[in-house]
Amino acid sequence: MKYRICILFAALLLCGCAGTAEDRDDFLDTFLLTDMKVDGIDTPALFNPAKGTTTPICSDPLCSHTKKDGCPFAGYHSLQELHYYGGAVWFQSAEGGKLMDSDIMRYDLDTGRVTKLTSLPELRELVPDSIPIENGQSYGFFEGCFVYRVPRADHTIAFQLRVSLDDGKIEVLDHDFIIPFAQYKKKSLSYTPELSYTGVSYGIDVREGDHRETILSEKRIAICFTDLLESGKLIYVDSPKREDGSYDFDRMAVHVYDMESGEDRLLIDDFPSAYIALIGDFIYYSRYVEDPPSLGYDKNMGKEQFNLSGGILFRTSIETGEESVAFELPAYTLIQTEIHRVGQYVVIEYRNTDYSHFEELPGDYGVWYAYEKENGRVVYDTASGEAKVYPEASQ
Ligand SMILES: [Zn+2]
Repeated sequence: MKYRICILFAALLLCGCAGTAEDRDDFLDTFLLTDMKVDGIDTPALFNPAKGTTTPICSDPLCSHTKKDGCPFAGYHSLQELHYYGGAVWFQSAEGGKLMDSDIMRYDLDTGRVTKLTSLPELRELVPDSIPIENGQSYGFFEGCFVYRVPRADHTIAFQLRVSLDDGKIEVLDHDFIIPFAQYKKKSLSYTPELSYTGVSYGIDVREGDHRETILSEKRIAICFTDLLESGKLIYVDSPKREDGSYDFDRMAVHVYDMESGEDRLLIDDFPSAYIALIGDFIYYSRYVEDPPSLGYDKNMGKEQFNLSGGILFRTSIETGEESVAFELPAYTLIQTEIHRVGQYVVIEYRNTDYSHFEELPGDYGVWYAYEKENGRVVYDTASGEAKVYPEASQ
């Protein structure tokens, strides 16, 4: 569905996914924020896994979702990440097409009213002249704020600020200030500053008053899940370290860290993406399978293609560490990065290619075979154990 524009942009958003107890309300347990095409126009939408329906957020049924129609989402581009906070959908509007010049907008779900919080050019004005922005800028929604950062060449933070989504207040932060993503007793937990640039955190910063320490400092952490933090369990996904000291990005692992005893337990090994869904006692994910089913011969690539996921959604019990199969649908090529939790449902996208049906398109370098494709979603209900396929649910 969405391919994030660059790692700078992805970094803040990725940690936003971990969420906290406060921002997980009924909305996030009912809908998946997504987008859909209406007459060729990308517009933000809500997927309801209980019903399998996708509907535009813009509530006007006659709207073409363009500027001409006065659509509040006219500047929306599907490369952007949508964010839910406090009864509103937050997004960046780039009507001129330039994401770096976009406005930060709030769409109130009850009233349908749209307001502008700020804009990237306005925030850029606040960067002192002494700080060059050639090294890039990173920004995204995080913990009730819109965060904007300018890194130094060595990836540390030269300048950062946050804008409150509650009242629009702008706060320039010390360059070494770290925004916590969770609280455990009197300790606040934050990703280390590398995250804003590299998309990963080397260890987790734990602060209590003036005391500060980094736990799991050898770990290259992609994301933490705080769902079980109240019972002292921090669940995180990392890439294992090889013997030569480098990290293996293709073999992610899930660990459970005990905040009291410091015990660090490996739960799931060797799966190819940092994306998992956690519901109740189970972690759901997709991984490469042995003997994957063949999808047919790809004339463009000159080789046979396989459904590497096997169409299987796996699950592992956090309590026992036992792995089992939630569903097996070999005809569906699951997208390992597009897995979400919505209430009691696991939602995972699939993208099927039919290599036996194609159109031949002549090009400069010979014929290109345009294969028939089908994108959709599989919804797994963890309460009933039922999996349903919605072919029209994704574009
Ligand atoms: Zn509209």
